[in-house]
Amino acid sequence: MSGQYEILCLENPLLDIQAVGDEKLLQKYGLKSNDAILAEEKHMGLYEDLFQNYKVDLNAGGAAQNTARGAQYILPADSVVFVGCVGKDKYAEKLVEANKKVGLRAVYRYDEEQPTGRCGVIITGHDRSMCTDLAAANCYKVEHLKENWDLVKQAKIYFVGGYHLTVSVPAILALAEEAAAENKVFMLSLSAPFIPQFFKDQLDQTSPYWDYVVGNETEARSFAASHDLNTEDIPTIAKHMANLPKKNTQRKRTVIITQGTEPTVIAVQGDNDVKTFPVHVIGKDEIADTTGAGDAFAGGFLAGMAKGESIEKCVDMGSWLAKLSIQELGPAYVSTSAIY
Ligand code: ADP
Ligand code: MG
Ligand code: MG
Repeated sequence: MSGQYEILCLENPLLDIQAVGDEKLLQKYGLKSNDAILAEEKHMGLYEDLFQNYKVDLNAGGAAQNTARGAQYILPADSVVFVGCVGKDKYAEKLVEANKKVGLRAVYRYDEEQPTGRCGVIITGHDRSMCTDLAAANCYKVEHLKENWDLVKQAKIYFVGGYHLTVSVPAILALAEEAAAENKVFMLSLSAPFIPQFFKDQLDQTSPYWDYVVGNETEARSFAASHDLNTEDIPTIAKHMANLPKKNTQRKRTVIITQGTEPTVIAVQGDNDVKTFPVHVIGKDEIADTTGAGDAFAGGFLAGMAKGESIEKCVDMGSWLAKLSIQELGPAYVSTSAIY
């Protein structure tokens, strides 16, 4: 498998600027304690505020980049490639460094004007508020993907982070259509509740191409709300998503909904039964940071798919990698040498 680049991931490469904050800081910028949003003008002072007045940790972020690193952590060398847009600055160097640690190949487009995107992460207790200024990440275009079409052709699995639906739907659809035409795997992550809520039309353009779609319980409920499903029941929502119209009829769609410490729900197109799988239990005192647990889960799941494992095994690998990642700050996959 070496040198084959089985998996290609697309999304927004970001640097996470993380700090333990308080209610006052959240209020100052009008942020909710547990949320993920795109920064507006009124949020732009947050990042400097964090640097000046709080003890910050800088971590490589961007949901799908976290996922890509996770899949590469498990798989043989040169299995995963990540594409996205960064700036020509020290933050991009930091991302390159983090990717190098697990051997992830990132083929960045470097924007001349915009800085690397950043995500302010404010921790209060067990909550985390994420506020993203996309900057260079917002400059990715389908043309940039076309410049690397050889990598697209090589890969057998495409993973797109839903956050990219705010950036370049044409790039996402180019991958989706290629997957359908070549009977390759197209997997999308819902990423955050605001995606199904405020980017519903963009999301719906991609749904016929989903071979796999992954999200957590709040994202699934947001999908249900924006699609008038009149239910909050996760198995019901998962089943609905699994049975939406599908372009490539050679593959059945699989929907994976994680629920933190609660069992993961799996619905397969056409199947009456919805399955649940328990997570890998971890002691409360072993948890360092749950940021990106879902990203890590998707990484383990993807690694399983690349290896041709059963759905049960893929979920188990996802849960295993998520457990590993929450024992360190951000999903870095560097603090242990654990092997699945
Ligand atoms: P997100 O990070 O997107 O909110 P979840 O919170 O659902 O996603 O977490 C994804 C997966 O990470 C879970 O299915 C589980 O495997 C693992 N995970 C998350 N939190 C915990 C926890 N406290 N203990 C054990 N596993 C966890
Ligand atoms: Mg969660
Ligand atoms: Mg998530």
